[in-house]
Amino acid sequence: MTDEEAVTCGLCGQRGEPAAAAAGLGWLRESDAGRTRWLCPRCVRDHVRDIEGKLPSEYW
Ligand SMILES: [Zn+2]
Repeated sequence: MTDEEAVTCGLCGQRGEPAAAAAGLGWLRESDAGRTRWLCPRCVRDHVRDIEGKLPSEYW
């Protein structure tokens, strides 16, 4: 069994299986300045809410 690259949440540090992340089970992959960051399903929800909260209302 090959040692696949571990998927670790960039916010809370929770670890997930690469297969689960690849299957799109709630994990979000972000690319920031050439670096890849993963967010676990729970943090994705918080993160999205955070982003939406920062948007000016006229954006919509
Ligand atoms: Zn997390």
